[in-house]
Amino acid sequence: MTATALVVIDLQNDFCTGPAAAGRHRRAPTGLDVVADNAVRAVAAARSRAVELVHVRFTGDAEHQGPSWRRRDLLLGKAPKCREGSWGAEFHRVRPVEGERVFTKRARFDAFLAEGFEDHLREKGVEHLVFAGLYTDVCVDTSARSAFQRGFHVSVLTDCTTSLHLTDEAILSFMSTLYGARLMTLDDPEVWSVPATPPETADSGGQVVERGVARTSLMVAAARAIETHRHDSLARDDYAEHFVRAAGTCENWPVRPHEVPAGDEDPLWGRLGRYFGLRTRVLDDFVQRSVHAGARQAVLLGAGLDTRAFRLDWPRDCVVFELDQDPVLGFKQDVLDRLGATPRTRRVPVAVDFRQDWETALAAAGFDPTSPSVWLAEGLMLYLPSDAERRLIDAVDRLGVRDSSIAFEVKLGSESPQVRSSTVYSLARQRIGVDLLSLFDAEPRPDSAGYLASRGWATEVTTPFDFARSFGRGPEPQADDALASNRWIFATRT
Ligand code: SAM
Repeated sequence: MTATALVVIDLQNDFCTGPAAAGRHRRAPTGLDVVADNAVRAVAAARSRAVELVHVRFTGDAEHQGPSWRRRDLLLGKAPKCREGSWGAEFHRVRPVEGERVFTKRARFDAFLAEGFEDHLREKGVEHLVFAGLYTDVCVDTSARSAFQRGFHVSVLTDCTTSLHLTDEAILSFMSTLYGARLMTLDDPEVWSVPATPPETADSGGQVVERGVARTSLMVAAARAIETHRHDSLARDDYAEHFVRAAGTCENWPVRPHEVPAGDEDPLWGRLGRYFGLRTRVLDDFVQRSVHAGARQAVLLGAGLDTRAFRLDWPRDCVVFELDQDPVLGFKQDVLDRLGATPRTRRVPVAVDFRQDWETALAAAGFDPTSPSVWLAEGLMLYLPSDAERRLIDAVDRLGVRDSSIAFEVKLGSESPQVRSSTVYSLARQRIGVDLLSLFDAEPRPDSAGYLASRGWATEVTTPFDFARSFGRGPEPQADDALASNRWIFATRT
């Protein structure tokens, strides 16, 4: 008995090959062939692991159609597909073997409307359905959505399905947002495991810093703790591990390199962790250069558990404004107080929500718009609605007098389904309860670098790989890379 079942939907001739498929699908025949090949590999993988394997097929015969289906077909001139007994209804490239159940949807999209389907899954003790087959936006989505409503966890093999009417990206992202479908490729080692449920937060009294976007500050802190103790470390932060240890729901997170057995090969704590280490170092250097060049105010936007005020050498008359959500700043202060930490410059925490007015709070905290400032938005923009990003950049443009500078991180455009299903995202979700894909704001991003350039800022757009190369340390590009669209932007008002 396995808690996971692979559900192969409608891998039949009329949908995969021949004139019916070619007439309808934009990626026929080669795109469909690739999907069918991958679905065959998924079937083989499930069999080799003794994962419960269920085949679902469709028959479109007129006598099974309800009045609405018949009307639709007449209206749109559609002919029934996969007629019972026809070549079109036969399985394409997969053959159920003894012991594998086949369920038939008679003029229905939803596998749960096939007689006996749900009963079978319940009898087998299945809790988690992995979907492959056709089409993502029709029968796969309908069945997956139905599964979710019945309490099954849902994973979708993005390389084993393709959509008919919508783009693959649109439907997959919708499935992920609407019912938490896990988007994975077949090669993801976590495919066959039941998705972990992130720690209870709303009812368990877990602190706000351990929930939602605030939890990302703990993820970065853990990465900095690990980086600190690497033999080839790029940045040191001796406070970082104390934040992680103080958060009850993070007690199993690693804070030392030896606690990450796969080392740099670990997509989360190895590669992404190193990315955070590199980012910390690059922005440490940037802030130091800016204050030594004359800026006396540093504004850390979405400061989270950033301890630059405690770690870096500051000229005597500097002030560091740390802007974040009130509970994050409160948690941070508690931990720092318990450690007896003393800042190396004047430090002013400012509770804000960047989706609302935050400039008033910064002004009230003593920010001086007549003197040069250095601004950091490290790991913030990705989570902000595009309008909030626009307002933030506009504020920096108004408040940053000559010789002011800003460094910020963005993602260019939206990530492909392949990238969205990369292991780093699923590991972050499963191991540490950080669902980055649902935390990233889905709206199209503004061109903040372009805007600053148009306002007279000298702007440089870089990739993290540029810095990894120059340090000789840090992540290198890879296929379907969740870091590929990341840009670090540096701008100075001249
Ligand atoms: N810059 C810090 C670092 O690199 O360690 C923290 C980065 S963490 C990934 C993102 C931070 O942005 C979190 O501390 C979160 O609370 C903050 N944040 C996200 N959305 C925010 C909002 N609307 N208002 C205030 N803070 C926000």
